[in-house]
This record gives sequence, structure tokens and C-alpha cells, in this order.
Amino acid sequence: MRLLSTRDPRARSTFRAAAAGAQPPDGGLWVPEAWPRFDDLDALLALPWAERNVEILHRLLGDEFAREELAALVGEALDFPIPLAPVEPGVFALELFHGPTLAFKDVGARFLAGVLARGSTGPRTILTATSGDTGAAVAHAFWKRPGFRAVVLYPAGRVSPRQERQFACLGDNVHALAVEGSFDDCQALAKACFADADLSAELGLTSANSINIARLLAQGLYYLEAAAQLRGLGIPGPPVVAVPSGNFGNLCAGLMAEALGLPVAAFVAATNANDTVPAFLDGGPYRPRPSVPTLSNAMDVGAPSNWERIARSAGDAAALRATLRWDRCSDAGTLEAMAALQGLGYEACPHTAVAWAALKRRLQPGETGVFLATAHPAKFPEVVERATGRVPALPPALGALESAPVLSRPQSNDPAALKAVLRSLCRD
Ligand SMILES: *Cc1c(COP(=O)(O)O)cnc(C)c1O
Repeated sequence: MRLLSTRDPRARSTFRAAAAGAQPPDGGLWVPEAWPRFDDLDALLALPWAERNVEILHRLLGDEFAREELAALVGEALDFPIPLAPVEPGVFALELFHGPTLAFKDVGARFLAGVLARGSTGPRTILTATSGDTGAAVAHAFWKRPGFRAVVLYPAGRVSPRQERQFACLGDNVHALAVEGSFDDCQALAKACFADADLSAELGLTSANSINIARLLAQGLYYLEAAAQLRGLGIPGPPVVAVPSGNFGNLCAGLMAEALGLPVAAFVAATNANDTVPAFLDGGPYRPRPSVPTLSNAMDVGAPSNWERIARSAGDAAALRATLRWDRCSDAGTLEAMAALQGLGYEACPHTAVAWAALKRRLQPGETGVFLATAHPAKFPEVVERATGRVPALPPALGALESAPVLSRPQSNDPAALKAVLRSLCRD
């Protein structure tokens, strides 16, 4: 796969180098030079999940990976079910939360880990700053992987105890550092480390953040799975697909799948009060802004980093408005949507509820709707209880963690101190 920058098309990369963290020198993002459009989509959709994924990835990455490598990668990274659950007539939830940390970020993080494990020379240190879910998915994906260390920076006391346990109880090659500061401080610390060329070279520092093209590519695969399952149910028409969005990586992956031939009537870009993109699509200027906290906190992004990819591929605002539908949902609307879904017999996390609410407002009569269920409701028990009066049942993966010791260490908000800690961790 030949990649070029969203800004200067002369900036080029291989997929492997981009996955390992190489950034375009012009500050842009990597995008494929071209997408092959599959003319045998019906046959592809008729294949089982794993076989279809190997076939598609081989067509896209065959110049850099052998088919057997891709088969092993798919077998280890994309090994959990992605069911399409009926919620009400003509409306389905694509459940992306059956991986080890119960959120869709497992898909991209596990695939990225598999890619890096197959291309790595020398030890690597994956450094990630998290406000919650990303840290868990990344830490799990690299946990006990020979040749890798994962370091998770998180704001002390500002992630929920359950979120903290998902990355801070792992131990082994996963190190959780509780930073005295905010999530922004954690990101600034990570940035300072990546900007230090000596440190980066010494530790093989690698970022696993959501602009990584490997994460997006893996996510594109489950959109095709939704289409395959709809066909299995005898629903051939293209669905409207609602995507709960923060950094817009997930929507970007959906548009990639569409470029490959995914049958889709429209995507609905669904946000919470952080509505930079809906405000732009409404006709305003594109104005990134500081994020505001909401109940769907994994979507609290005011300057979505993947938007540049989407904007570039569409061409201009008019083209985007013609292909997308969009809506935003307040916290009050989120709670109402969660209660309404519960009334339909479907327990949803707040992010999932935002997608459903936007879908319901943008779906036209006769259309089939799919909304992405991005996290398990039990990850957000307080919000579920507030919306529905019920405490979600604890899935075994979370239950086992309730009594596990937290192994994180306190970390001062000081780049020099953090660099010394990283060096010492990597000597062990
Ligand atoms: C990260 C996340 C989102 C937003 O996905 P983007 O790719 O950043 O748009 C939505 N829901 C959940 C549960 C998430 O963790």
C-alpha cells in the first residue's frame, strides 16, 4: 500500500513505516494513494469474517505482507465476535465491544500490535497518554508481547476506578504512570518524549495513537461485516450507518470501507456537545475548539485529529454535505436515548446512545439503520444507572479486575523526570 500525505503528495511512506509511527514531515496524515474498488463485493461478503479479512488485507497489503502473515495477524487480533443485534424494526446495533477491554478500540490496537510485532527490529516502547479507554486497549494489545514495553500515562484520580484497573492491573511489560496533572498534561509529556530524538532512538519509542493508519484499516473491516450480516438476514439494501465520533477515526474507517465498495446509503456523523464537525457541516466555518466534558467522554474532542483525512478525501464542504448526514446530542438527550433504548430491551453505553439518537433523527422511512455500539454499558455504570435506574451486570472480564491490585506508580508532571523513569523501566 502506497501512502501519501494529506498535505504534500510528494511525502510518501510504506504502510509498515507509517504503522511504526513515521509521520509526514509536513505535519499531515498518511492516506492511501488510491483505493482498489472491489468488483467482487458479493463474493467477498459471502466469505466468513476471518477469511474475508485475510483476502481484503492481502489485496491491500500484499506488497508488504505474505498472506500467511496476514492470516496469523487476523487470527490473533480480530478473534472476537462482532454481532449485529436487532434493536427495533429495521434498526441494528453493530456491537464492537466484545474484545478484551470491552470497547471498539481493541480492534485497532490489537491489529496495530500484530503489525508491529511482524516488522520490528530491536525493542520497542509503546508510549500512550490516555483519558481512559485507549490506554486499556493499547496496554492489553501489547501485554506480554516479547520485545515490547507499554507505558500508559494517565491523569491521577481523573479516570474511573474501573478504567484504571483495565490498564493498571496488568503488570509484566505494562507500566502505568499516574501523572499529577490533567489529560492534556499527559499528552504534553508524551509529546516531549517523542520530540526527544535520542530518547526515541534509545527506547524505540512508538506512539499508538488514533491517527495511526493501521488502526483505521482494521476498523474498516467491521463495516463490511455489518453489510455481510444484513445480507444474511435477507436485507440487501444499503444501510444508513451512524458513527459516534470524537477523533473521527471510526468514521474515517467507514469512508475507507465505502471506497472499497461497502454498500452504504449514508453515514451519520454523531457527536456529543463537542460539535466542531456538525457545526461546520451546518454551514459554519471549520473551527476547532477546546473540548467540553460530557457523559460520552471518549468523544470529548474539540479538534478531531482525523478530520483532515475525511476533508481531503471528499474534496470540499459541499461534497461532504452531500455524502454525510450529521447530528449532535446533548447530555440530556444522551440520558433520554439510553432510557429509550432500555425500553426497547437494549442496554447501551452513552456513546452508543448518541449514535442511536442521531440515527433516529436522520433515518428516512423505509431505510435500514445500523448504529455502532462502541463500548460495553458496564464500563459506564454510573451513567447507565442515572439514565435507566438499573445497574448493568458486570461482564467476567471486568468482574475479575474488581479485586486485582493497582500497580501504577505516581509520576510528576515533569518531562525530565519522566524520561529518567522511562530509561530506568527499559533497563529492567
Ligand atoms: C474513542 C471512542 C469513540 C470515538 O471514536 P473516534 O474514532 O475517536 O471518533 C466512541 N466511543 C467510544 C466508546 C470510544 O472509546
